[in-house]
Amino acid sequence: MGSLKIENVKKSFGPVEVLKGIDLDVKDGEFVVFVGPSGCGKSTLLRIIAGLEDASSGDVLIDGQRVTNAPPAKRGIAMVFQTYALYPHLNVRDNMALGLKQAGTPAAEIDQRIGASSAMLSLEPYLKRRPAELSGGQRQRVAIGRALVREPKLFLFDEPLSNLDAALRVNTRLEIAQLHNRLKATMVYVTHDQVEAMTLADRIVVLNAGRVEQVGAPMELYNKPANLFVAGFIGSPK
Ligand code: ADP
Ligand code: MG
Repeated sequence: MGSLKIENVKKSFGPVEVLKGIDLDVKDGEFVVFVGPSGCGKSTLLRIIAGLEDASSGDVLIDGQRVTNAPPAKRGIAMVFQTYALYPHLNVRDNMALGLKQAGTPAAEIDQRIGASSAMLSLEPYLKRRPAELSGGQRQRVAIGRALVREPKLFLFDEPLSNLDAALRVNTRLEIAQLHNRLKATMVYVTHDQVEAMTLADRIVVLNAGRVEQVGAPMELYNKPANLFVAGFIGSPK
């Protein structure tokens, strides 16, 4: 279970309204990708879903429960950031364990979950290393592993491939797709990359200047863009 509902979410920073009323329904198990140009509000929307930022108005529901005012740890979500956001002083295993320890998960269960997740992501050889001793791709796999061990209902990804080189981008993208197939978890994924959006998404949400321009399956958007903005964004080669 991990459906997501966003109801008329607005967000202003000072006088500037960066989200102008976002409505969206994400089904349990769905892979939804937010695309749009830099500055259109993608990260802000993701952070509001995660509870890292408050909406100015509107509501967020996870599994039908209003979580608008719930702290991040109570939402059943895990987020993966562009910059990995690992603790530099902790080794890989402890980075993965920290959130579980804080949630009071028993040690044996932590071991079991880290074992399963590190096997799934081929992280076993690196468990004793610190982030500085890993490549960018390995760091991002650790960040994904750290999300995985929490067994969230909903995964949020904010441009997770942006700091990786081209070959790693493809590999990591395939790993995320495999993860989605295995776990059947709901995933909401932000990118400004059309290829990522077209290959990963069940549905794409095209954002522009704080509004939803169009929502649809990749080929639907590609074949029947609602307007020139969508046509330019989905249709144009990188
Ligand atoms: P995206 O992720 O699509 O590139 P963001 O959600 O990061 O866009 O930002 C949307 C707009 O909100 C941008 O104009 C950005 O400068 C502004 N913004 C984001 N966070 C803050 C903040 N904490 N304070 C003020 N302005 C912000
Ligand atoms: Mg962003």
